[in-house]
Amino acid sequence: MKSSITRTVDEFGRISLPIGMRRALDINERDEVVVEAGEGCIIIKKSSKSCVFCGKLDNLTEFNGKCICATCKSKLK
Ligand SMILES: [Zn+2]
Repeated sequence: MKSSITRTVDEFGRISLPIGMRRALDINERDEVVVEAGEGCIIIKKSSKSCVFCGKLDNLTEFNGKCICATCKSKLK
């Protein structure tokens, strides 16, 4: 699925995401999203738990709301 919309940014810098896009991406109220900016664009995607250091998605341990993978955890010791 690839679609685009035009939205107006409000005085606080906010935009709303259409319900159809939220449903398609399973983004619900109070879900965390990742906002990436680069080369003239902003990408908003559903947050998935990943290692804060390398971005891996498996063998994660969570501490204070942040995740770290087993490999990075062993390097910290
Ligand atoms: Zn890692």
